[in-house]
Parts: sequence; C-alpha cells; structure tokens
Amino acid sequence: MKTLSLILTLLLASGLNADDRLRSAQPNAPSERKKPYLLLIGVDGYRPDFVDKYNGAALKALGERGSHATALVPSFPSTTFPNFYTMVTGMRPQAHGLVSMQFYDPQTREFFSYTRNAAEGKWYSGAMPLWNIAEQQGMRTASYFWVGTEAEIRGMRPTAYFPYNAQTTSEAKVAKVIEWLKLPEDRRPHLVTLYFSQVDSAGHRYGPEAPQVRAAVAEVDKALASLFRALESVKPEVNVLLVSDHGLIAPSRQVDLTNHADWSGVRVVNGGTQVLVYSDDKERLRKLEAELKARVSSDYRVYRRDQLPKHLYYRDNPRNGDLIILASGTQSLYVNYNPDNQKKRGNDGPLAGMHGYDPKIVPEMKGILHGAGPNLKPGAKLGEVDNIEVFGLAAKILGLPVPAGANAGKNLVKRWYRP
Ligand SMILES: [Zn+2]
Repeated sequence: MKTLSLILTLLLASGLNADDRLRSAQPNAPSERKKPYLLLIGVDGYRPDFVDKYNGAALKALGERGSHATALVPSFPSTTFPNFYTMVTGMRPQAHGLVSMQFYDPQTREFFSYTRNAAEGKWYSGAMPLWNIAEQQGMRTASYFWVGTEAEIRGMRPTAYFPYNAQTTSEAKVAKVIEWLKLPEDRRPHLVTLYFSQVDSAGHRYGPEAPQVRAAVAEVDKALASLFRALESVKPEVNVLLVSDHGLIAPSRQVDLTNHADWSGVRVVNGGTQVLVYSDDKERLRKLEAELKARVSSDYRVYRRDQLPKHLYYRDNPRNGDLIILASGTQSLYVNYNPDNQKKRGNDGPLAGMHGYDPKIVPEMKGILHGAGPNLKPGAKLGEVDNIEVFGLAAKILGLPVPAGANAGKNLVKRWYRP
C-alpha cells in the first residue's frame, strides 16, 4: 500500500493528465482481459421522436444495425443526475441517494446542488457505480463524463476521468474515446462512458420544437457518425449502448405558489416540476399542508412523502422532502421563499423546455435506448424499457457481478443479450 500511495503521489506531482493514468496504472488483470468492451453513451434530453423529426441519422443507424427500444422510461424525477446514476447502479434515485438535482439532507443538514457538489463522493455513496465494480475486479475503465465519474465514491474512481467541463468539444471527446479504445489490450479500458449535453441545453433555452434543438441533434449526430466510423477499425468489436436520461416538453405556464401559503419555518427546494418541503416541526408541516390543500388548485397536488403514488418509488428517503408538491400537468411551479442557506433565486419565468415530471402523466419525459455489438442481439423487440434495467445489461455484457440491492435487468438481458 505504501508503494502504491507513493506512486500515486509521484503521478500527481508529475502533473499527468487523468487519461494518462491508463498507461501508468495497473494493467487489466489477466482474468479481465478477454472480457468484452462496452461504450456507454449518454445524450442528455434526447426524446424518441427527435430521431426522425430532427434526422439523427447516425443514431438511428446504430439502432438499425442492432436494436432500439420504443422508449427508455426514466425513473422519477425525470432529471439528469437521478437518472444517469440509476442507469449505472441499477437503483432508483431514492435508493442510490441522488434524489433530485437539488435537495436537502435532514440527517446531515446539508444541501446538495448539482452545480456545487457534483464532485463530492459522499452524495453518491449509497450505491456502487458500474466503473467501481469493474475496477474492483481489476478491469480498467475510462470516462469522458458521466454523473459521478469525477467523484471519489467509496474510495474509488475510474482509472481515467475528467472533471466536468461543459466547454469541451464533441470532437475532443470522440478523439479521446477512440484513442482509449485503441490502446494495447492490457491497457485498454473495457468500460468507457461518454456524455453529450447540447440537446438538453438547447431544449431548455429554446423549447423542444425550436430549430436550435434540431441543430443540437445534428451536432451530436455528426460526432456519433465520426465515432462509429472510427470504431469500425477497433477489434475486437466494441458493444455500444446509447441512452438518454429523459425527454423534454414546453411547460404550459408558471404557477407562483408564494402567496398560496405561509412558508415560514420550513425549507423549500424549488425543482420547477416539483417543490420539496422539509421541516422537523410536524405541526408546522400539518398547517402548511392544510393551507395548500384548502386552496383547491388544479395546477398541483400536495403529498406527504409516505402518501406519494407507489409507482414513483419516492416514499422512503428523507432527502425527498416531508411534503412534496407535484405539478398536476406540465405546469412550472415556483415558490419565492429563500431558506436559510440557499442562494436567492430570481423568478425569471419558466424555461422554454422542462423535464422532471412523472413519465406516466407526461409521456414526453421518456428517453431513448439504442445499441449494437457482439453481445447484443440485432433486431430484438424491446418495446418500452424501464431505465433501472440498463445497469444489469451493462454488467452482464462486461461479465461483472450485480451487487445486492441492485436491479439485474432480467427482462432486458433476456430480450437483448447474447453471449
Ligand atoms: Zn435538463
């Protein structure tokens, strides 16, 4: 151990880039070298109908060469951090702990925000992500972004990773991924993750029907086309799974709840599609709940956590809030109340595109799943797939164990996997 930490210190001191660690770290363990390769691609905010509507030709060709789901159904809430982490852990958001993009933890009395705390491993430690399971077996992994890959989780990281940077070009990401997959077999990562943000960004800013979303789809597709072309010369053939975390919809209108109740004495976390309310004071919560319910609004519903619809899997974690206010349709909810240690938030009106709603009520929240490769049956009829099953399929392809409490993706494996 001493030698190992000395080597690590020297590596850090010599200023090696994250990706150089594939050359300097331990090679793949002999037991892992003959196992398959998997490239897991995440395209944020890509809705199934965008494929044809905005001509995602390279993406479509992947599903035609292999298979694609009618839709990939996100876990609740249909937002980025909860869902990308569900797909690499096989656990619902309330089980892995990243329950929303922003939330409060009543046990530690700390706030999580994806803008501030994304690199802190403690928030992710409720589950073991796929890359750490691989690394434990001596299988090397590399990431050009994925939720959690820049954090040290339970003392581990991917062998190669980068701190998230929204400015990194698609060309740079694709070039690096190809470079990794062409390393000699003892150094070549068996799991590589890659992430694209531009469809979601354009969708939020301009709305899902805007020409800017078409342009973002085209940009991602260009990167995918050059990636898939380059992969043709990589042997053995790499399995490719391409997913999105959720879809998008233009919200109907903004509903300002500020004057609907007295918010004093509680913590409020605005999520747009839902509002999470926290307090240790049961009486205070009861009053607030009664006040909101007396209002009889068709725009939202108020739930105590343990009374939320079962299919949301959102009753069990105190991080989900004590009271949860859900938009009844596609309203954007807002409370202008600033809890103690949260940054003041201005009310700029709703975003042009939003997500986070229950996909059962708002089907536009559904995402995509396309894939092809030596371990994926071509032409499989997948139908709609629950995104908690993606992890099990990925683990099966890589020959990795599924930890207790994680979903093994039995249905998806049965329909799609081939040895
Ligand atoms: Zn988004």
